[in-house]
Amino acid sequence: MSSDPSSPAPAAAGASSPSRPRTESLRQASRIFRYLRPYRVRFASAWVALLIASSLGLAFPYLTGSLLDASTGRFVPLPFGGVTLSLNQIALLLVGTLGVQAFFSFFSSYGFNRCSESALADLRRETFGRILGLPMSFFAHRRVGELSSRLSADLTVIQETFTFTIPQFLRQAVLLTGGIGLIVATSWRLGGVMISTFPVLLLAAILMGRRIRGLSRSAQDHLGEGGTVVEESLHGIVNVKAFGNERFELSRYAAHLSSYLGVVLRTARLRASLVSFIIFGVFGSIVLVFWYGARLMQAGQLTFGELTRFILYTTFVGGSVASFAEVFSQVQKTLGATERVRELLDESPEVPVLEPAPRDPVPRFRGDVEFDNVVFRYPSRPDVAALRGVTLQARAGERIALVGPSGAGKSTLVSLLLRLYEPNSGQLRLDGRPADAIPLREVRGNMAIVPQEVLLFGGTVEENIRYGKPEATRDEVIAAARLAACHEFIERFPEGYQTRVGDRGVKLSGGQRQRIAIARALLKDPAILILDEATSSLDSGSEQLIQQALSVLLKDRTAFVIAHRLSTIRQVDRIYVIEDGAVTESGTHDELLAKEGGTYRRLAALQFDTPTS
Ligand code: ATP
Repeated sequence: MSSDPSSPAPAAAGASSPSRPRTESLRQASRIFRYLRPYRVRFASAWVALLIASSLGLAFPYLTGSLLDASTGRFVPLPFGGVTLSLNQIALLLVGTLGVQAFFSFFSSYGFNRCSESALADLRRETFGRILGLPMSFFAHRRVGELSSRLSADLTVIQETFTFTIPQFLRQAVLLTGGIGLIVATSWRLGGVMISTFPVLLLAAILMGRRIRGLSRSAQDHLGEGGTVVEESLHGIVNVKAFGNERFELSRYAAHLSSYLGVVLRTARLRASLVSFIIFGVFGSIVLVFWYGARLMQAGQLTFGELTRFILYTTFVGGSVASFAEVFSQVQKTLGATERVRELLDESPEVPVLEPAPRDPVPRFRGDVEFDNVVFRYPSRPDVAALRGVTLQARAGERIALVGPSGAGKSTLVSLLLRLYEPNSGQLRLDGRPADAIPLREVRGNMAIVPQEVLLFGGTVEENIRYGKPEATRDEVIAAARLAACHEFIERFPEGYQTRVGDRGVKLSGGQRQRIAIARALLKDPAILILDEATSSLDSGSEQLIQQALSVLLKDRTAFVIAHRLSTIRQVDRIYVIEDGAVTESGTHDELLAKEGGTYRRLAALQFDTPTS
């Protein structure tokens, strides 16, 4: 295998070393064919239909030759029994053969399409399922655009192979071997002349095809990077506009596009040379055969019909050789694409998304949480400790506030609680048990988060609330919405709970989105609640509604509140002040306020505008 050294190496270790033998890469690619297995009977029937159709295609030059000989009065016996047919009979046979060929072509084409589309749908589903189930550490290295490019571009390449390349290969293989066989059987001398031109053509096709493969992978990578820019900038279009960075984004995109263009133009030049070389070779060999055949005819060793047959077979055979170059370069492209999809399929998921969800309910936790000397470094930044020996605890039902400057490690602490990441040392305990000994499903099944920035999906309001508990009844959804003070504003929409939200629906205000998130969490009814308090100031009406909804939500469960406004956490059981990845103070609001020179006291003074001494 020869992959382009200039194309970026995939992130997964050892996924594509340039020295890896070609058989290995073929073996890997063949794993993708596994997806055709469920459709093997239909696939095999499509092959048989194709075989019949292609074989019948070979009868065409033969019968045409016989037709011409019949016209000159030379009746050439047909094979299989030496029957001599009249001109009209041969013409009828020709039409009949074409009809049967068309019939089988339909079945083979439809069969191949059906199998490959179904197999591809399975592969797409599995790839997306795999991506969803991968741990956060995987996403740290990947960008969204790159991953969606794999789901679309790479899988489309594989699809083309299943649908067009494989049938094409088979058809051409039949025409090639059958054509050569028939040529040699009729006149070995002419056949010999023609076949002698093949090795050169094949060698050129293979060499150039290899190079095209390397370039294709590199082109896909550049296109993927461009796609990432589009996704990122459209996703954050408000930011792009607010900063007036439209031209900057365009130039980032244009830079990737021009690299892409450079590579595809190189590929196009190679392809063009390959095609023109092959055209020259094919027509050259036809001329050669024509010339030699004409001489044989002159010498009376060949009839006009036989020569016609030869020319037609040579065109067939030449056409197949030429198309092998195309097939070969498509196969090379597919090998590149399968490599990248396979890298994804080989990652080990933390959540087995592709297996059916367990039916038994998640056992409910009491809600004791304990961080014991937890040290943590992000996999993408192993040199900096985001948490440097954090020890804190929350007993069941307690409300804990995390306070501290930006970048101190509050969100990181919460990510570890959700087990999005595992500590490097120290231990997280839930209900007294080491968290890593508890199935992930139970851990996350007992937690809910009300984030600062609430993400609503493109669906109805009801679907968005139900996200907290997909199996909830309509009444449960409405009850949760009432408790979260959402019901009134939802009812005011003309379509009520069926109102579409998100990109193409109504836009909800920040406060309304927060209340939807609270309703989601209420519906989930978790033992441990994480609340990332909104920093944006809401109007006092909204604020009051949210505080009411929160007080319902916080009841009877352990709660971690990442507090930005200290006014909201006066009533919590304990406050932990986090600074630079470590707990520096802890206590109640009053205790911490009383602490001379303490960080909390200083922060409180800033926010409440009260003197500290
Ligand atoms: P804020 O109040 O601004 O949200 P925070 O206290 O929640 O801040 P964290 O988001 O936990 O702070 O960040 C703690 C440290 O970890 C910071 O130095 C941050 O740069 C780093 N960090 C956060 N997320 C990642 C990540 N995914 N990869 C690498 N480093 C990260």
